[in-house]
Amino acid sequence: MLTAVDEKNCLINLLETLPASRSKQYFCPFCHSEVVFKNGSIKLPHFAHKQLKTCTLGNENESEQHLMLKKELYEWLKETESVEIEHYLPELRQTPDLLINGKVALEIQCSPLSLKRLHERTMNYRLHGFKVVWLMGRDLWLGNRLTELKKQLLCYSENHGFHYWELDLTKRVLRLQSLIHEDLRGRLFYVTHSFLFKEKPLLDCLRTPFVQQELLKMAVYPDNQLQHFIHKQLFHKSPKWLHLQSLYYQKGKNILDLDFMRPYIAPPGLNLLVPFMDNLTGSSFEQLSKIPVSYYQNFLDVFQKKKIEILYPPRFYAIMKKQK
Ligand SMILES: [Zn+2]
Repeated sequence: MLTAVDEKNCLINLLETLPASRSKQYFCPFCHSEVVFKNGSIKLPHFAHKQLKTCTLGNENESEQHLMLKKELYEWLKETESVEIEHYLPELRQTPDLLINGKVALEIQCSPLSLKRLHERTMNYRLHGFKVVWLMGRDLWLGNRLTELKKQLLCYSENHGFHYWELDLTKRVLRLQSLIHEDLRGRLFYVTHSFLFKEKPLLDCLRTPFVQQELLKMAVYPDNQLQHFIHKQLFHKSPKWLHLQSLYYQKGKNILDLDFMRPYIAPPGLNLLVPFMDNLTGSSFEQLSKIPVSYYQNFLDVFQKKKIEILYPPRFYAIMKKQK
């Protein structure tokens, strides 16, 4: 961690001042047990608990990547906003990595966390009126498959559809992955916007999905080998595809009949469930207050199977629907 308190309970932020004396005692601002100041050659100067006890609030074992990203974003934010690092919020019993203007919590997530923990933290922020934005380190970059954890970290807006934030320390870039779609094989497609650190205020970057802008577009090509792919999956008894096959049978449909399988690409949460649209209950996206059912419906109404299909954000489909 980058903060501690001294004997007089004065907060020390290592990004602002390095402690003058090594002989002084320092304490964890959260659990008040003793911490030591570490100023080695590998990691950024930081504090670590003297005894490895379970302090759930001070983040132990933060990687170099996590410490460095906290430092970079702190310095970026400081140019334009009021920002606090590792600020303990007693009513939530949580410590966001960075707190902007007392209301926006930034969580830099560099390692996997349990879905239960993600749910608790997300709900806790929401219940107490904070906005939380999750920015993902290298191990959690979106890549070409949507794991359950990544699905629960997806954000949504009318202008960018499903989107996802990534931090790249090496390139010093904040990436916004937008217009996320998944094909029937489970491969991901999206468009990327990159913001260099300090290129413009960080809050402006984070507002990108919500401000008025030119319509995003993404071209995709039909998957001509899909039927062959599904055949193979069923032949090799892939549990996922056998399960889907039985679901389709219950609906009186054959999974190999591609007419029911259209569209071949769709927003996350929709694509294999098209025949079950009447049964999409409960929220299955942690960062969204509800499933975007009207986006799904508008998308299905407008989507056509062409040689090249252009995909758009939810705003486009809503406009098209109104014009019909
Ligand atoms: Zn502690």
